[in-house]
Amino acid sequence: MLDYKIEIPYRDLRVKDGKLKRELLEAVERVLSHGRIILGPEVEEFELAVARDCQKRYAVGVNSGTDALYLALRALGVGPGDEVITVPLSWIATLNAIVMCGAAPVFVDIKDDLNINEELIAGAITKKTKAVIPVHFTGRMCAMGRIMEIAAEFGISVVEDAAQSYGSRIGDRPSGSFGVVNCFSMNPMKVFCGYGEAGAIVTDDAAIWQKLLALRYNGTINKEDCHYPSLNGRIDTVQAAMMLVEMRYLAGKIDRRRKIAAFYDEALKDVVVCPPDDGTFHTYYSYTVVVQDRDALKDYLLSRGVETKIQHPLLLPYHTAYRHLHGYDIPNAARLVKKILSIPNQDNLTQEEIEYVASCIIDFYGRG
Ligand SMILES: *Cc1c(COP(=O)(O)O)cnc(C)c1O
Repeated sequence: MLDYKIEIPYRDLRVKDGKLKRELLEAVERVLSHGRIILGPEVEEFELAVARDCQKRYAVGVNSGTDALYLALRALGVGPGDEVITVPLSWIATLNAIVMCGAAPVFVDIKDDLNINEELIAGAITKKTKAVIPVHFTGRMCAMGRIMEIAAEFGISVVEDAAQSYGSRIGDRPSGSFGVVNCFSMNPMKVFCGYGEAGAIVTDDAAIWQKLLALRYNGTINKEDCHYPSLNGRIDTVQAAMMLVEMRYLAGKIDRRRKIAAFYDEALKDVVVCPPDDGTFHTYYSYTVVVQDRDALKDYLLSRGVETKIQHPLLLPYHTAYRHLHGYDIPNAARLVKKILSIPNQDNLTQEEIEYVASCIIDFYGRG
């Protein structure tokens, strides 16, 4: 299939907006001039801005969303003998973070909206359960009100995997504002992105914040005495500087993604299952449809020059490293993982391009 010419890539990470590009380059130039290359002044500014956006007191910039998850669990003291509940449909980082802490993952099935089925959480809690990680998949908010209630009732921590959902919200409560310590990725694929690897952790808890600052740099206090064995998860100043620029464009990018989603909703509602409208503010990290004949549709779209993505083709317990985790009761995830397809929805697509994508999908089902 690779010999087809891709006319509409799933993502195009080139910066085509001249004004944005100029501002990004100026930000890089400022960092080169002041020379504080790691954890420089822009990092502090970035952390303040992220904390404010998430209605939390503290934010800690880190190397990646993966680091954010790992360090968040470490800061909560999650380790060997503990269980952490999460979903089978996510990027593998969610599971790796749990396992790298030495804890055991427990999988709870998803709903048709691809998020954790909150009503199954209580049944998965044991004496060993330390935390639950709801993943705001595709940028859609999980049912956080109910999840927080259940967590409080059983005395477990909530860690939001908000890697895909910066800016999403339920009413006026943004993703990252609910759990005790919450994680973002700003990798270049994400809606709020850096230009390399980056992530952030937010919390209201001063003790957790202090521990995160140590864990971020080999577990050291004052860069000298190691209190907790850890690795190096610091963030580059240049990423923070570029993300401060990016932040000013974020509302516009989210608005454009929501408009693209509204167009697809209307154009495709009779041919595929579109993301349901549940009244939350969805930022559409991906526009993921549930379809019949998914693999044939994917191939057909590629033959028409449209690149799509399956996020993710392997459920977490079915990765090679985790074969021993087979046997979970996750029928909805097992069904949906064969039907999901993410279609191009980046904010830089033109109206003509999204109309073309929609028409190709309609053509595929119209062929009978
Ligand atoms: C992107 C992502 C991560 C990991 O983020 P990186 O910055 O790529 O390490 C974790 N969880 C989910 C759900 C993600 O989409």
